[in-house]
This record gives sequence, C-alpha cells and structure tokens, in this order.
Amino acid sequence: MYNIVADYHTHTIYSHGKGTILDNVEAARKKRLKKIAITDHGFSHIGFGLARGNLPKIKDEIKRLNDRFGDMEILLGIESNLVGMDGEIDIPEDMLDSFDIILMGFHKAVWPHSLKDGWDLLARNALAAIMPGMSEQLRHQNTMAIIRAIERYPIDIITHPGAKIDIDTKELARAAVKKNVALEINASHGFMTVEYAKIALNEGALIVISSDAHTPDRVGVMDKGFEVAKAAGIPPERIINTKEYDQLEKNWK
Ligand SMILES: [Zn+2]
Ligand SMILES: [Zn+2]
Repeated sequence: MYNIVADYHTHTIYSHGKGTILDNVEAARKKRLKKIAITDHGFSHIGFGLARGNLPKIKDEIKRLNDRFGDMEILLGIESNLVGMDGEIDIPEDMLDSFDIILMGFHKAVWPHSLKDGWDLLARNALAAIMPGMSEQLRHQNTMAIIRAIERYPIDIITHPGAKIDIDTKELARAAVKKNVALEINASHGFMTVEYAKIALNEGALIVISSDAHTPDRVGVMDKGFEVAKAAGIPPERIINTKEYDQLEKNWK
C-alpha cells in the first residue's frame, strides 16, 4: 500500500473546479495530507483558463492559508497547456517565477500559439483518431513537442501523459528522467495505463499519483491511480508524493 502525503493536482473555482481554495485545503487536511497544490488550468484553456488578473488574489489567499494552517504546505501551481509544436506552453516567461509548482498537459480546448500549431497539434490529432494511417509520424511529433516543453520550461509534472494525445511513453520517460520531471498517474482519467506505467518504471522515471480533483470531496482520492501503480509494480520510493519518497529527502524539483 502507498502512503500518500501530497496531492499535487487539484482544481478550484478559478478554473472549472467546484470548490474554493479553502475547501480543497480543508479536504486535504481531513485526509491528513502534508501538501496540496492548487493547479488551475493555464491561461490559454478555452472557457476554463485561469484569468491572469486573479493571480495576485490567489497568491494572497494561499499565503494567508499557509500562515493559518502551519501543519500543511499549500503550493501555488498551474496546469499549463502545450500550445506549440516547438514546446511552447501558455505561461509567459516573466510569470514562471510566480508558481511554486508547474504542471503541463495536453488539452484539446486551447488557443494554439499560431494557426500552424493549431493544425499540427489540434486538428491533425483530431483527424488521427478517425484516420489511423497517419498516426506514426504524429506520435513522434507529439512526443517531441512535450519533450521540447520540458527542456524549455521548469516543468515539474507532466499530467495524464497519453490522454487525449498519442505519445511514445518510452521516449518521453527518458527525457523526463534527464530533467527530473515526474510523470503522472491520473486517478480521474485512468491515465497512465498499467502498460504505460511499466514502461515509465523501466526507464527510471519518477511517478506522481494525483487526484485531479474538480470537487473538494475528490481531493486526495487516488484509488484508481494506486491500482495502476500497484499492477505496474511501482515501488513507493519512486512516487514523489509518498512518505517513502519524502524520507529519501531528495527534491525532485
Ligand atoms: Zn488535465
Ligand atoms: Zn487537471
């Protein structure tokens, strides 16, 4: 069994979650977690993206809650979006320092960086789902785009790799090891699958299990993720949000 001490992927009303930051923090405290990250969707997410203007308010709220609850650490994070084939994500360079933790994932409902990126990243991937013939080259391009992102930005976690986009897990895991980036087993999406998790394990990648909670009652709920990790044989010390990893006193960031 895994002793989970942190949930690094939770959403609030600042994107399309149902709870406030305080609601998520209280839920995490009830589950006796030591850390929680508030990670609303990146600025380019259509409809649900974090509004830049809200950032100072969120920062202030998290600071106040950290002062109030000395027994746990609340991190200001973001689930940024891949928006360009050159690895561009939707956080401007001068805002990268605003976050304690940066997650990055592929989502379909984003404003691409350019028309060409919209075609390569969004349209071609949508077409590939119905036209299997074009998948091999696309898979390579998708994987390279994510790898470029982790080479360009201080990304800590790749969320739900393989969900909504076809990727080469082995290739990605190798790049993630070099950059000390953790690959997520998402307890809401069911990604990675056991097969993918085994590949990541064999390549030596760090893993994180996250709830991806969109309601406070889902914070810290990771059963589906545990099942995948267990079936893939991932030892607890390879999972950055377990007590065992914490005790190694390594910092993956
Ligand atoms: Zn996501
Ligand atoms: Zn999410």
